[in-house]
Amino acid sequence: MEALIAALGAVVGSDAILTGSAIQERYQSPWTRLGAPLAVLRPASTQAVADILRLASAAGVCVVPWGGRTGLVDGCLADDALALSLDRMAAVEAIDSAAGTITVQAGCVLQTASEAAAAHGLLLPLDLGARGSATIGGTIATNAGGNRVLRYGMMRDMVLGLEAVLADGTVIEAMSPLIKNNAGYDLKQLFIGSEGTLGIVTRAVLRLRPAPVSQDTAIVGVEHFSMLPRLLRRLERDLGGALSAFEVMWASFHDLVTTPPARGRPPLAGRYPFYVLIESLGGDVAGDATRFEAALAAALSDGEVADAAIARSTSQREAMWALRDDVAQTAREGPIIAFDISLPISAMEPYVAAVQVDLAARWPSLGAPAVFGHLGDGNLHLIVRLADTTPAVRRAVEDVVYGPLQALCGSISAEHGVGLQKRDFLHLSRGPAEIALMRRLKLALDPRGVLNPGKVLPPAPTLLGEQP
Ligand code: ZN
Repeated sequence: MEALIAALGAVVGSDAILTGSAIQERYQSPWTRLGAPLAVLRPASTQAVADILRLASAAGVCVVPWGGRTGLVDGCLADDALALSLDRMAAVEAIDSAAGTITVQAGCVLQTASEAAAAHGLLLPLDLGARGSATIGGTIATNAGGNRVLRYGMMRDMVLGLEAVLADGTVIEAMSPLIKNNAGYDLKQLFIGSEGTLGIVTRAVLRLRPAPVSQDTAIVGVEHFSMLPRLLRRLERDLGGALSAFEVMWASFHDLVTTPPARGRPPLAGRYPFYVLIESLGGDVAGDATRFEAALAAALSDGEVADAAIARSTSQREAMWALRDDVAQTAREGPIIAFDISLPISAMEPYVAAVQVDLAARWPSLGAPAVFGHLGDGNLHLIVRLADTTPAVRRAVEDVVYGPLQALCGSISAEHGVGLQKRDFLHLSRGPAEIALMRRLKLALDPRGVLNPGKVLPPAPTLLGEQP
């Protein structure tokens, strides 16, 4: 190991290798477990990443890529492995206003890239709570979703090209900025959403959109779940494709974020079972506001909406989003388990009710789970608050939440990924042939299993430890 560390030091510079307590001091994260890495390497170039992987592969030492370390599925856990932080590769390399593209290094923080695009009148559509720390490389590796998927898609939909380094040090330069490029297999897709198990993303070309000039935001109260899909379809139709957010908060979540010690206050006078944060982004300030108000007025008169508050200023808009983003309140009374699932809208209400009944039957002291999510994307976040999060209890709660999803054609992960936390449940969302093909891809690209070991795929004796 000492010889390997010395060789790696020659690659990245001895001051770019951290060991011992220096690792926690610099990199600790409240969101994700990091484990006890052998060392953290901070390469400054793609060539250095390639050299690190070549040396580590040859020595049979595992490598775990680190971005902003804000993931929620323990994808950064690096016990007995080298952690490879891309924080020195954080440059915005170029913005092409004519083509509408931005070229960035993987360690660039999402917010930095967004602000660089905005300075050119362009929008990088990806937006999520961790925007100030999540990196472009991490959001590609996890195919991040967030608040505007309804309008612009997930990270996968914004990646035109990327550069990635394979386990053996081969650099795959697939940086084509073309929107249309059907010349053979679309190799970049191998690395998007594979959580650093097939290669390490080092650079990317992302597609930008014209920055919207209008932003209309409201919170509405809804009496019955059955009104939510009707409201969603109405807004999609009446707003002419400008609807960018349809974020539903169950009363359980609304109550948490509008009562002290939370700083938020109820946006509506009455109390409703469901609240929806609605936003549209467009190109005509006066016309869009008129259309937005007319759509909500029609929804009110048709009974889909019981009450509505429209943001009249930036601070009112920010206060509305602050409610939706104040997820930390769910942990104010103790430990939580945060779930991130997908299922058809028609199945959501009975599913949530059944999970609630099941949890209450097994743990009678448990409060109702806090539920919210990107309903327009079929994505719910379900937060279970539990005093006891021992592995056995955690597993039992996971069984309750994940168990019904297979029959509903749902997914155990809508946007957070699999990491370590969900790999044992992968079979509920993916068939045996699909998982077998994932294993063949892993074996083909990383035959010695050195890249982010143990993540995504459950252990299989035919894969782990097998020699090429
Ligand atoms: Zn989310």
